Amino acid sequence: MTAFPRFADLAFPTPTEAGLAAAARAILAHIAAGEVEAALAEWDRQRRDYESWASLVHLHFSQDTASAEAKAAREYADALAPIATEHEVAVKRALLALPDRVALERLAGRHAVLLWETDITTFDPAIKAELEEEAKLGARYTELLASAKLEIGGQVVNLSGLAPFAEDPDRELRYRAEALRWGFFAEHGAALDEIYDQLVALRHGMAVKLGYRDYIPLGYRRMRRTDYKPADVARYREEVLRHVTPLVGRLLEQRRQRLGWDRLRFWDEALIDPAGNPQPIGGHDELVAAAQAMFDRMDPRLAAFYRNMEAGGFLDMKNRPGKAGGGFCTSFPSVGTPFIFANFNGTHHDIGVFTHEMGHAFQNWESRGLPGIDYLWPTMESAEIHSMSLEFLTLPQIGLLVGEAAAERFRRMHLEASLAFLPYGVCVDHFQHEVYANPGALPAERQEMWRRLEKRYMPWTDYGDLAWPEKGGRWQAKPHIYRSPFYYIDYTLALCCALQFWVKSRQDQRAALADYVALCGRGGSAPFQALVASAGLISPFQPGALEAVVREAEAVLAG
Ligand SMILES: [Zn+2]
Repeated sequence: MTAFPRFADLAFPTPTEAGLAAAARAILAHIAAGEVEAALAEWDRQRRDYESWASLVHLHFSQDTASAEAKAAREYADALAPIATEHEVAVKRALLALPDRVALERLAGRHAVLLWETDITTFDPAIKAELEEEAKLGARYTELLASAKLEIGGQVVNLSGLAPFAEDPDRELRYRAEALRWGFFAEHGAALDEIYDQLVALRHGMAVKLGYRDYIPLGYRRMRRTDYKPADVARYREEVLRHVTPLVGRLLEQRRQRLGWDRLRFWDEALIDPAGNPQPIGGHDELVAAAQAMFDRMDPRLAAFYRNMEAGGFLDMKNRPGKAGGGFCTSFPSVGTPFIFANFNGTHHDIGVFTHEMGHAFQNWESRGLPGIDYLWPTMESAEIHSMSLEFLTLPQIGLLVGEAAAERFRRMHLEASLAFLPYGVCVDHFQHEVYANPGALPAERQEMWRRLEKRYMPWTDYGDLAWPEKGGRWQAKPHIYRSPFYYIDYTLALCCALQFWVKSRQDQRAALADYVALCGRGGSAPFQALVASAGLISPFQPGALEAVVREAEAVLAG
């Protein structure tokens, strides 16, 4: 077995337009000569190299958005991406045109072939310029948000750095944090509207060029969703509205009464535990060390993987100026190792983000031996099962990260936050369906759309005098809406599955972990509902699946 690599040693050759074209020609020549196995092997190697390089370039930019060098490299990669896609689609088309489909499925995997069939309907050379423009607009959004310099509590922080203040037990401080956040969005509201307006027009235009009536079917295909449709998602949103919205409303009302507030305002929602949200035992270094003890207790595979990730430098979780916001996991498929990016801010979110991204990373690592690059990551709703389930599966050992005295309170908080997330998550999804069904809507009409849906799924929301979200601007703080259209319902579907793992782990932690590790090893080798069934879980699209886990959660919270 080769040693786990070191991040600092990673370097991947920079591809060129001519190089990509030559590689594609060679692969197409193999296919034309009937050498399908050789073509697949060569293509897989080439895609891994390209992906590894692109991941590293984008990661370097996220690590330092102010670096001119990193920015230039990212712009080069963004310009090359549609060209790489064009070659990739040409190879997929050539493979799919082969007369012997059974032989192709035997060599490449049945699900991979299904994915390629979906992929070839999402691209045409005619939309190359739009794809490049889409990437640029997305990057402009990221840069704009990363530029925030907000003064609070005697410090200057970015938007991620506001989080500790936004959930401080001091109500006045929480209000000030939200006032600063939404002041920033109001100040840049016109620019943010302009970016989104262009993105919607661009995406609608691409869809029309490809022969779709609007962006929705194209959006689903770009997410590689092969086993459910917008109508299934719409039914799921209704389930959330029926079973979760009233429960979250009751939980918030209990909190309001316990704290003796006349009204529960928007800035009160983040204070989930009336005694103050449990905090991590310490900063970055303490958490990183305590996490090793936690994984050591849980599972030897998780423990060994985490030790290697840490020693190899594959974790960047400290918040610093100029670093892009948020958290994500990326990977370098040529070497098989993932990378975790986050912005620790001293709150319980650090634990949530860390265990979440570790779930993604562990899945990717466990899947590294699967036959083709298409299987290394599943589609996103399946991928979020791995991440969100690890958030729940670490709960029994969470005392190591928050202190034993606060462990039970942390578990309750996580459960309550998860339930409250569901209505918000489906609202983000519903909003995007309306946006892309009405591509000609004006920015002000989009704000109205959001506000109307928000009142439906989260009727408790009370913004007080926070003018920007009151007008319907809250969605602009959600990067997925800008950068990854329709990638959001995924979290809510996965949460329904993660809650099932949670229920299972309360009965038998060892068995739940075994099922979890096995699911991680299956990576993206099957579509969502097949993966769910393979882990002994019930599909969220099945009537009653959501209701059952929500009832269990409610019972635990009432106890
Ligand atoms: Zn995730």
